[in-house]
Amino acid sequence: VLEHVKKYFDIRDSDGKKGTLRAVDDVSFAIKKGETFGLVGESGCGKSTLGKTLLNLSPITDGTIHIEGKDVSQLKGRSEKVQFGSKVQLVFQDPSACLNPRNKIGTILAEPFKIHFKKTMNKQEMEQKIDELLTMVGLAPEYKHRYPHEMSGGQKQRIGIARALALNPDIIICDEPVSALDVSIQAQVINLLEELQEKLDLTYLFISHDLGVVYHMCDRIAVMYLGNIVELADKKALYEETLHPYTQALISAAPSIDQVKKERIVLKGDVPSPSDPPKGCKFHTRCPYTMDICKKEKPLLEEVKDNHYVACHLCKQRN
Ligand code: SF4
Ligand code: MG
Repeated sequence: VLEHVKKYFDIRDSDGKKGTLRAVDDVSFAIKKGETFGLVGESGCGKSTLGKTLLNLSPITDGTIHIEGKDVSQLKGRSEKVQFGSKVQLVFQDPSACLNPRNKIGTILAEPFKIHFKKTMNKQEMEQKIDELLTMVGLAPEYKHRYPHEMSGGQKQRIGIARALALNPDIIICDEPVSALDVSIQAQVINLLEELQEKLDLTYLFISHDLGVVYHMCDRIAVMYLGNIVELADKKALYEETLHPYTQALISAAPSIDQVKKERIVLKGDVPSPSDPPKGCKFHTRCPYTMDICKKEKPLLEEVKDNHYVACHLCKQRN
């Protein structure tokens, strides 16, 4: 459960002027146990930053994050943080970047056990765990003797997933887990994630710029624009009863979702800088329906239909 989470960065522009980058600007949502929650948006919209705040990798500026009833910001001391760390795991976009090239796979997979069970787990138990993890992600136990560079991109991502699974996490944050892979491999990794979810009752936060992938994977989807969630709904409702003009444009640009071709909506202009976002509705500089009020008042995320939330003045008038 995230409530009013904000993550601001202090920045300086080229003239040395101080500013604030509102990467995540008052975001609230609750991920249900066992679901796949999708977070979609263009690069720079704050979705990765949000993922990192969940991991407690960087302190948030304001708001609260509860995981399994526990307030993440209130964790004290190293041991509590380490213990919490095992509950939330991350699968990265680029598996190569997070696998130490000098270590064999066996060593890499042993790390989480060494950190968490240093005293209670013997070498043999650890070996057995590593074999289990490799089998779970569809690789033969022999792979533990290999180095990362001896493996393909898809195999490395399987190792990334195995490592995330090592400590029985409650939630796995998948940040663009397949966008660095070939399309044919993407499907395999997605299938693996789905199988594992079923088997282990995992909860996923699935972050991606690719609405097609998110649509395939997720139960509910939140659409982010410049640090705000602009629409949140079950995927079917999001697709079939799209409310926010930005979501409409994203969907129209993702023809892979189904065969029915919706008319392509091309947005004018570029994404404004997140350090100097437009006033009122941050989308008003690109929205085809901008009204006067949009330039002045920021629309809040409100439930307009059952479990369908949107932040848009126009949608509220219509509903
Ligand atoms: Fe467009 Fe106004 Fe809705 Fe923003 S609030 S998305 S500018 S209609
Ligand atoms: Mg990102």
